[in-house]
Formats: sequence, C-alpha cells, structure tokens
Amino acid sequence: MRSHLLNDLTAEHYRRSVTEGVERVAARLAATDRPFTGVTVDALAPRIEGIDLDRPLHDSTAALDELEELYLRDAVYFHHPRYLAHLNCPVVIPAVLGEAVLSAVNSSLDTWDQSAGGTLIERRLIDWTAGRIGFGPAADGVFTSGGSQSNLQALLLAREEAKPGRAGWNAPDISDTLGKLRIFASEAGHFSVQKSAGLLGLGPDAVVSVPVGADKRMQTVALAHELERCVAEGLVPMAVVATAGTTDFGSIDPLPEIAELCARHDTWLHVDAAYGCGLLVSPARRRLLDGIERADSVTVDYHKSFFQPVSSSAVLVRDASTLRHATYHADYLNPRRMVTERIPNQVDKSLQTTRRFDALKLWMTLRVMGAAGVGSLFDEVCDLARQGWDLLAADLRFDVVVEPQLSTLVFRYIPAAVTDPAGIDRANLYARKALFASGDAVVAGTKVAGRHYLKFTLLNPETTLDDIAAVLDLIAGHAEQYLGESLDRAS
Ligand SMILES: *Cc1c(COP(=O)(O)O)cnc(C)c1O
Repeated sequence: MRSHLLNDLTAEHYRRSVTEGVERVAARLAATDRPFTGVTVDALAPRIEGIDLDRPLHDSTAALDELEELYLRDAVYFHHPRYLAHLNCPVVIPAVLGEAVLSAVNSSLDTWDQSAGGTLIERRLIDWTAGRIGFGPAADGVFTSGGSQSNLQALLLAREEAKPGRAGWNAPDISDTLGKLRIFASEAGHFSVQKSAGLLGLGPDAVVSVPVGADKRMQTVALAHELERCVAEGLVPMAVVATAGTTDFGSIDPLPEIAELCARHDTWLHVDAAYGCGLLVSPARRRLLDGIERADSVTVDYHKSFFQPVSSSAVLVRDASTLRHATYHADYLNPRRMVTERIPNQVDKSLQTTRRFDALKLWMTLRVMGAAGVGSLFDEVCDLARQGWDLLAADLRFDVVVEPQLSTLVFRYIPAAVTDPAGIDRANLYARKALFASGDAVVAGTKVAGRHYLKFTLLNPETTLDDIAAVLDLIAGHAEQYLGESLDRAS
C-alpha cells in the first residue's frame, strides 16, 4: 500500500497516474456536445449505491473507467456554451495548473511552519486585491472557502465592533445585546446574510430587508428611513450589507450613497461583491464599483467572476486590526509569542484552521494572463448580456425583467394563448425542467414578485448571441408543447 503514498520514491507513479486522469478529462471535455446528458437521480443513484466500497479495485485505470460511468459521463459541464444557469464559470487553465500543484504539495495555510512561501503568496494577493478595491495600507484579509463564509466572517467582525462602549450604544444589560443588533440588506441580497445572522446569535428579526427599485438596486431613501427607525426604537444598526452584483439580477447597490449613510450612523459597511468582484480587473467597467473603497469589509468570490475553480474566495477589511475578532492563540499552533516574533500565521485571521492554498490558482492566473486578461473575459460576458437584453426586449414572446449591469438576464416566456398567471408559471417551470432533462442547455429559475421566471447567468465568453437565441427557441418550444398537451388533457 505504501506505493500509493506520494513521495520521492513514487514520483513516477504520481506522474503517470495524474497524467492518465488529465487525459480522461481532456478527452471528455473535447467530446461533450451538450452541457448535460439529462441523467435522472433514479438512473444514477443505483449505480453509485451498487459500488462496494469495501472491495477496492487496486488499480487507478479501473477506478477511472468506473468513474466515467458514475460521474464523468453525466456531469454538468460549465465549460459548455449552453450552460447558462448558475454563477459557475468555465475555469482558466493556469488556475487548474495551480490546483494540481497545490493539492500535490498540500501546504496548509494556517501557519507559516506548514506553508512558508504559500503564506506570503496569499498575503501578496490579499494586498493586491485590497489595492484594487482602493483600501489604504492598513487593509488586510484572508482567503476563505466561498462567499458565504466571507460574509459570515465580515458580519462577525461587524458584530464585535458594534459591542457596548461604542458611541450610540445604550444597552446596559449585555444579555440584551445580541437581540438589539440589526443588519440591513436589500431584498435582493444573498441568503447567507440571514444564515450568518442566525449563526452569530442575533435574533430572528435581525436582518432588515430594504426594498429595491425597478432596477433591483437598494433604495437608499428606504435604507435611510430604516436606519433612523432602528435608532429611534433603541436598536443598534450593526451593519449594512450592500450587494455589488446581486445573485439573481447582477444589480449593484448604490455604493457611494450607502457609504454616506453608514458614515452618518457610524455603521459597518460590508460590500458583498461575490459576483461583481470581476469588475476589479475589468478594463471597461471598473467604475461600476466606485464607492467600494469606503467599505469596512468586502467579499470577493474569485470562483465566480475571475474564472477560478471552486473554491477561491476572500474577505478583505479596511482595517487589519478588526481581524483580531477571529483570533485565538492555541499553544500548539500559533502561540501569542509568535506575534511578537513576527511569524505570519494566517490562522490568526481565519475561521478555518487547516486551509487549502487556493490562492495559488489566482497567482498562476495573474502571472500567466494578467489582471486585464481576466477582466476582459468578464467584460465579454457583460457585453453579451447587453446584447441578450436587446434580443429579449425585442422578442414579444418574452418578458425580461431588468437591463443587466453585469451578466444575468431574468425573463419568462409569455404564451400568446394564456393570460392566467398560474398557467404562465407552469409553462415556464415545465420548460426549464424539460430543457434540463434534454441536456441541450441548462438555465436557472427564480421568482419575481411571486411569479416564476427563468434566468441566464452568462459567465462563458464562448457563449454567443446565437446560443442565446437558440436556447430561447428551445424554451418557447418546450413551453408550447406543454400548453398543447394540457389543452389535450382538458378536452
Ligand atoms: C454566490 C454568492 C454568495 C455565496 O458565495 P458562495 O461562494 O456560493 O458561498 C454570496 N453573495 C452573493 C451576492 C453571491 O452571488
């Protein structure tokens, strides 16, 4: 069994084994003509259930053969131009190369003595990102597993900063503290804000939902009103979460106005740029993030708009000292004396302990392609979304919700023969399901004002306007087929 351990003696085995895996994936990528095979849970589950995990194959070629059947053949492929569903990007090759390196070397970024250069590379990338945001020299941050964890950590820091002793705080009873804290986020903000509030021990009413306008951006007049009401009721505005790229609409909240209100109320401003962070490197659209430099903390998901493999994310803070709220000194790992010895231990800033060297993927990407190279790919998909909007707006078969600031389109099919809103809902739900089952394309769905809509999230520069037009025709076809069949059933 020792021959399976990766070490000096097995370097050749490692090379052959991983190369064989790479070749399988390359062959599969080259052969995929649809984003999905349409496999069902019922068809796939017995195959996976049928594997006896206590009877190993003792051979990686055989295990790969088996994996073809269990996974590779029927996986959902984000690189396909007709995968238009969620915030999954096709990945860039330099990042995949970084992934291969980081998992083989297997550094852990919790402490310097488990990573050495890995820690310094991550720190450079944090400083680089902070610079792109426009933070000053006091900024810091850390890589995380994703936007949800970044949001949780940012809100933890905000909670600690909002503790008694702060100006405006007048709750003498500490047990009363958590129930009084309020977080403000737009109704189009990400659900991880609500989850975080729960994890942080805040009350069920802790997140105040601020309405959005027709453009799906937070209404700052409403935010001002809610902040004033909060203070008047003796509650404490703990944080405002502005979303720079809402998950559904790609809408960007008005950052400068929100920053102004946060300054007035001495409230933490968190900018959730999980989706919109690609604008930090966009040659054409960086100004859409103007005002982000006034945030106290920022979430960026490189695995969304920087074309990085999952996971790659970070939370950035304007003031490094706020990260102390995530610090715990363990004798065995990162004792306090290491701080005075200036030994860089990233665990001092992280919610995780053992942590992947995900930063290497971004490093390789920037070293090979450069920031503008990545940003121009994101610009391409934003341009495509604009053209898709024009197409949809001119097509009487469809109703499209909001002109895109980034790269999503939310729309629905409006059958000529149906006026009943529930019937339109059913036709759209059916069309999405039927399209998925066919594997010809994958689209997402969401609700707008209680009604069912469909969504394209465009993150693939290889997707063309022809692809969009073709998928719209497929959707219309499935919806019409459904309506035809339900007419048959009725008669
Ligand atoms: C995707 C997303 C998140 C969550 O990020 P994960 O990496 O999926 O955990 C948070 N906020 C916004 C706006 C997002 O789009």
